[in-house]
Order: sequence, then structure tokens, then C-alpha cells
Amino acid sequence: MTPTTTSALTTSITDLRAQAVARGRRLVLIAASLSNGPDLADVYGVRSLDDATAEIVRRAQAHDSVPCHLLRVSRLGSFLAGAMVEPDHAVAQVAVLVDEMREMLDVHGERVWPIITVAARECGPTDDVWGTVRDVRGTLVTAQRDTPGGTSWHHDDDEDVVPHDSLTLVRDLAEALTEQPGQLDLAYQPVVDLRHGAMTGAEALLRWHHPHRGPVGPLVAVEAAERTGLIHPLGRLVLERAVCQLASWRGRVGPTFRMHVNVSPIELREASYADGVAATLRRCGVRPEQLLLEITETALLADDPRVLRTITALHRIGVGLGIDDFGTGYSSIRHLHRLPIDTVKVDRSLVAGIATSPSDFALTRAVLGLLTTTGATVVAEGIEDPAQQARLLAMGCTLGQGYHLGRPVAADELFSTDSWSRDGTTEMLGA
Ligand code: C2E
Ligand code: MG
Ligand code: MG
Repeated sequence: MTPTTTSALTTSITDLRAQAVARGRRLVLIAASLSNGPDLADVYGVRSLDDATAEIVRRAQAHDSVPCHLLRVSRLGSFLAGAMVEPDHAVAQVAVLVDEMREMLDVHGERVWPIITVAARECGPTDDVWGTVRDVRGTLVTAQRDTPGGTSWHHDDDEDVVPHDSLTLVRDLAEALTEQPGQLDLAYQPVVDLRHGAMTGAEALLRWHHPHRGPVGPLVAVEAAERTGLIHPLGRLVLERAVCQLASWRGRVGPTFRMHVNVSPIELREASYADGVAATLRRCGVRPEQLLLEITETALLADDPRVLRTITALHRIGVGLGIDDFGTGYSSIRHLHRLPIDTVKVDRSLVAGIATSPSDFALTRAVLGLLTTTGATVVAEGIEDPAQQARLLAMGCTLGQGYHLGRPVAADELFSTDSWSRDGTTEMLGA
């Protein structure tokens, strides 16, 4: 029997947990998905996907030593089951169970390898049952993205797991984008010439004021948007607002003042992206050189021909391209040489220790030395005190950003002197 409502599912799990405890065992929830299900349905029909799922479920249930009960099955090649495991052997026993599922399938006489992605979470005696279901589903969503065909255990301290409430977060973001754009806002953080404190540009940073959740961090919003395609309308909204904002500052900023806008690599895969940027610039009357698009993950950029085409088109239009968070996981000097990059932003993790640790200082100096070989302009991120600013200047780095120089603020506060400059202001910023 497949329970269909939330309360029926919760009751089934609670019963199963009681049975497991009575037998001296523990209940583990297993969420599984046939990651190549859509291909299977495409080639052999939806019926074949249902049959394949049923066969995988049958294999899981056929195991003698680890009783496994089907709790819910969806028509999309995924299901939720509860396995009763011995407390000290939970991981090993789930692995055995999953191994049984991962065997060749016979589909219309053809052999098909099922890519089964599995998430597991113990449903402890005092755990909130519905909470464990959300956890294991969230882990499955993340696993399908990051480790298809593998088994991932949910741990409460996992950072990278898609939030439990990801469905409602996505709905709320879609609502904000389509019906309540006032919830979405941009803060602007000055980019400063470290020699005399003049503001040479500003970075636009997304702010989402959620009516019930309060402020939602940009990384949370962007991650949800990247997962769901909402990154495209979100990116367009950010770009439009930032570019129009810059147009409205005409007369206050000089011709070399640049607006920095963060862009997701996923946006760059879209064939129409560069045309959209050009149209926005035309609409707002802003010259392409005044826009700098900040991109992370150079490896991904350099290896994806779609992204390379977009980058080349943006470069041809005259838009500046910057690499963000340089020095973290994905960036490499080799890739920088292959791309038309004009600005590199050195991540704040490389700035944090330069005034207190000789080895951090030496490392950052070496990185800055390497970056000079690319010919790109370097901006140091995360400058939090005057000592870091002085050290960077001594290393030849003349541009920076950070709380010491100016925090992200609302557009109309950006030009109040105390929000950004320690050394007073210049008449025409960026002139
Ligand atoms: P980012 O582009 O590297 O932006 C700099 C982040 O560091 C901002 O965090 C900023 O508030 C913070 N920051 C600046 N100075 C300091 C400092 O001195 N110390 C410390 N500890 N932090 C500092 P925020 O606004 O939370 O943004 C986080 C990230 O979210 C951004 O990192 C960017 O990757 C992403 N993001 C923000 N807005 C957008 C957007 O519109 N589109 C996309 N795709 N990503 C965005
Ligand atoms: Mg940035
Ligand atoms: Mg950064």
C-alpha cells in the first residue's frame, strides 16, 4: 500500500520505527531516485520507467537480513523506503541493500544500467518524523546534483544540503520575481583606490527582504535560483537595476567609474545572454566599458564552449569581465591566460592574515606576483583594517574592497562620505 497524504506517511513511518525498536533495530529512511529515469522514459516509454522503479523496489524488499518497507513511490522513478538496521551496522547494511538495487535491468529485452541515487537518514526514536522525511529528501536533491549514482547520508551539520524548505523557498523566490519585485533589492559596496581613497566603482549585491523569513542571504537565493532556472530572471533583474542605477549617477561619477555585477556561470551558458546585456546597456544609456561582470569558477568557464562563446561575445561588445573570489577552489592562473579577463578579485581568505601572519603575507605576495603575469587589474576583497590596506599597497595592489573601506549600503547612501572613504572624497569619483 502506498500512503498518499503527509499524515498517512508520518503514521506509517512512526509505526515502522516502533516495530524496528521492538526488534532491537533502528529505522533508516532511504530516498532513492533513478537518475537516468527521464532517458529511460524517453526511449522506452513511461511505462518502462514505472516497471524499472517497481523492479528496483522489489530488489530492495527482497533482502532477508535487512527488512525494507516501501513507504511511497512516485511515478517519476523515485521512492521512499524504511529499512530496519542493526544500530552498529547501519551504514554497512544500507550499502548492502543499495548494492542489490544497483544491478542491470532488463527493459524490453535490452540491458540498462540503473543510475540509482540514494539518500539515507536515521529516524531516531525521538526524531521529528516529518523533519526526517524533509532531511532525506533535501539530501537526495543535493545528491542528484552532486553525486548521482552514489549513496549520501544526511548529517545535521552538512552545509551543502539543499535546505529542507527548498520547495517553498523556490516558490517564494519565483513569487518575488514575478509578483513582488520590491522584495528584491541591491546594496552597493564601494571599490576603492587604496592610494587616496577615491571610489572607482561599486559592486551590486543582491538583497532579498522576505516578508516572513526576514533577510535571505544572496548565496542562499542564488543557489536556489541556479538549481531551478530562476537564475535567468534573477540575473536580468539584478543587471537591469544595477545598470539603470549607474545611469542615474551620471554627473556624480566619472567616465571610468564601473558597476560590478555578479553573474552565475549558468547565466553564461545561455546563448542569448550577451545580446541581453547589450540591450540592457542600450536601454539605460550606459557604455559597455562601465560594466564589469564578476564571474566565479574559472575552470567551469574555460572548459564549457557555450560559456566561452558568451565570454567572447561580451568581450567583443566591450563589457569588462572579472574573476571573483580568486584563490578559492576553482580558479587557476592557467585559465586566466586563456580568457579575456580584465580584472581579478583576490578572495578575502587571502587578505585576512596578511597583517598578522608572515606566511600568509608571503603567500598573498606570491599570488599577486603571479597575477601580474595576466595583465589583469587586481582588486583585493575583504579589507577589514588599515594594516591590511597598508600591506596590500606595499605589495603593489592599488584597488580594494572591504568593510574598512565601505560596507554594502543602499544606493542613496553610497555617496555619503562616511559610508566609504576614510580620506575624504573626490569631486568626480572615478574620474
Ligand atoms: P562576492 O561577489 O565575493 O561579494 C563580496 C561579499 O563579501 C559580499 O557578501 C560582501 O558583503 C562581503 N564583504 C565585503 N567586504 C567584506 C569584508 O571586509 N569582510 C567580510 N567578512 N565580508 C565582506 P554578500 O553580499 O553576502 O554576497 C555573497 C556572495 O553572493 C557574493 O560574493 C556573490 O558571490 C553572491 N552574490 C551576491 N549578489 C549576487 C547577484 O546579484 N548575483 C549572483 N550571481 N551572485 C550574487
Ligand atoms: Mg563579487
Ligand atoms: Mg568575491
